[in-house]
Amino acid sequence: MNLRFIVIIVFVALFSVAGVIALQISWMKDLLQQSRDTEERSISEALNEALTEYEKISTLQYFKDNKTLEKAYSNQEEMAKIEDSEGNLKLSYNLKDTNSAFFKVLTSELNISKDRIKNMSATDLEKLQQHYVDFNDKWRNQMKLMLFESICVDEKINPPLLKTIISKYLEKHDAMMKYEVCIVDGNTKGIIYSDFKNLDSNTLHNSFQFNIFPNSIFNEYGILFINFPYLEDKINQKMSPKFFASFLFILLILLAFLLTVYTIFKQKKLSDMKSDFINNMTHELKTPVATIGIASKMIQNEKILSSPDKVAQYARVIKQENDRLLNNIEKVLQAARLRKSEVKLKISEIDVNQIVEDVVSQNQINIDAVGGSINFFNDADRSIVQADKTHIQNMINNLIENAIKYRQEDQPIHVYIETKSKRNGIEVIVEDNGIGIPADVLERIFDKFYRVPTGNIHNVKGFGLGLNYVKEIIEAHHGRVSVSSELGKGSIFTLYIPYDVEREESEED
Ligand code: ADP
Repeated sequence: MNLRFIVIIVFVALFSVAGVIALQISWMKDLLQQSRDTEERSISEALNEALTEYEKISTLQYFKDNKTLEKAYSNQEEMAKIEDSEGNLKLSYNLKDTNSAFFKVLTSELNISKDRIKNMSATDLEKLQQHYVDFNDKWRNQMKLMLFESICVDEKINPPLLKTIISKYLEKHDAMMKYEVCIVDGNTKGIIYSDFKNLDSNTLHNSFQFNIFPNSIFNEYGILFINFPYLEDKINQKMSPKFFASFLFILLILLAFLLTVYTIFKQKKLSDMKSDFINNMTHELKTPVATIGIASKMIQNEKILSSPDKVAQYARVIKQENDRLLNNIEKVLQAARLRKSEVKLKISEIDVNQIVEDVVSQNQINIDAVGGSINFFNDADRSIVQADKTHIQNMINNLIENAIKYRQEDQPIHVYIETKSKRNGIEVIVEDNGIGIPADVLERIFDKFYRVPTGNIHNVKGFGLGLNYVKEIIEAHHGRVSVSSELGKGSIFTLYIPYDVEREESEED
């Protein structure tokens, strides 16, 4: 998979994820608005019903309290009859159709039988009808007078009754919650009643507004402001499980997306490192094989055969290249065996000072070849540990080999090795004056196949396996490896080997 393709896929996925998130956010906004609308609709319906009932009750109450109508029309026979049996007024007039209303009144309200009406003389009927029409006009005028003109608002509005009815209807519409009311005279704009906690224009502006007498001809008669301080809280509370779930899923999608991108790039890096490794390995194996091939061919040459010096020289080359080949194969095999479960330590009592001395002397020749010095300071007074000798040797050897490999081209190399006794183990410090390692990749040099890119500038061959081997092996010994380095100055690798491989980390210094 090439990088361009991965980048395109990541962008397409990013675009889709962003789209899904944007859609989700817009749906959530719509949902919130819907929930707010539903709540407001319930409140409006409840208030409309409550105010219609309040209007009816207060009107009837008014008629009961003030016998104005009765007084005004006490001389009218029809008046008494238009009241129901309990003395309440019937308000079910069809004022538009006097004829049918008239007969309705005659039959149902005045209890005059149809037969009697039939038998009535036309003049009587006409008289009766005239009375009815007169009555209707007077009644209408009187109603208007009573309801809208002659009564002052605060005399008529009864806030506790209004609130009781409002609560009843809010409950009926499942919209009951704490509320505050403010009643304003529509004409004078004066406040008649208020239980608002903060009575400011902003709260009033954000409150629901209704006409207290919805059927009033004069709409501005009485205005009710009703505020629900916890309305938003209620809506949010209702929506919060959905919002929470949405945010959680968005978060999960994002996390999964980031993880996928991270994994793709990690895999890509790993696959690049692996192909580098294969290229390196092919090169590292091919070169000595080719050299051995050329040297053995030369030895077969008669001219060379006659010169023992030349034969010996080519034989040395063959031996050297063979050793190099073996060394490389061993490194690859070491790495292949390195699956943790497969690391089987052959524990025995070993002297780390002695091992350091041996490894240093093995490498002396390589140092001499490139020019420089290698010194060791066995300062550890207790250097016997329970560990795997071969692995400990290999680890120290890898560190020294690296110090030689990653030297500065224009300077003699100086390697210092020091052992130090610690409370529960021994430290082996390998310090060099080489090219150093950039701080940002310091952590990664122990990863399998990882090679610092600048390593290639110096054309130093390697597989990126040596330090990974060191890390795996030292951890199998319950020890640890650490590094500090300065670019262009050198590096210090510190191996900590516990005295006893069985001891726990917590016992260290
Ligand atoms: P290799 O040497 O085969 O590349 P290693 O695992 O031994 O693999 O090292 C990993 C990388 O760490 C090297 O490629 C090199 O860039 C860097 N490195 C290791 N040791 C040193 C050192 N002493 N000085 C500078 N760089 C080092």
